[in-house]
Amino acid sequence: MSAHRITAMITSALLATSLTLAACTDAPAPLDARPSPKEDGRISDARGISPFDTRHPAIRHLDADLLRGVRKAADKARRQGVEMFVTSGWRSVEYQRSLQERAVARYGSREQAERFVLSPEKSAHVRGEAVDIGPTDADDWLIRNGAEFGLCQTYANEMWHFELATRPGGECPPPKSDATAAH
Ligand SMILES: [Zn+2]
Repeated sequence: MSAHRITAMITSALLATSLTLAACTDAPAPLDARPSPKEDGRISDARGISPFDTRHPAIRHLDADLLRGVRKAADKARRQGVEMFVTSGWRSVEYQRSLQERAVARYGSREQAERFVLSPEKSAHVRGEAVDIGPTDADDWLIRNGAEFGLCQTYANEMWHFELATRPGGECPPPKSDATAAH
């Protein structure tokens, strides 16, 4: 066999290997993958979605530490007979803006609306640093047990809204009265 022929065989073998490797990179997007302009994080299922539903942008674009905590909490809650759903997670700027506009229409002014829906610039949801949890028994469970996972209810008027606000096993700060309270 000529040297030229051996070189050709090696080249084709290497090419086949690199094609196989290329096919293997078709893995699920990492959690911190940047949102595409088409994604808004809207959750159409009124009950909410599983925190393990990584295909959904509302879950996929959450802060990795927050998501880890929510999943651990959901596992423990389930073992105690409480099913936990995410009713809202990461939201795009446009989606947050539409929620804010709807709230302004409902509450009559931007100031009143801000007690419930913050602007995209201020919302922890847009940063992927907040989750809304349902149903009510899951909220109640998480208020009582969330600190074990670093998860705290941050606003007294939103029993469903949780953020990482302490270290796992720490103590949650008292919730602010609402989103307009001074930080
Ligand atoms: Zn929220």
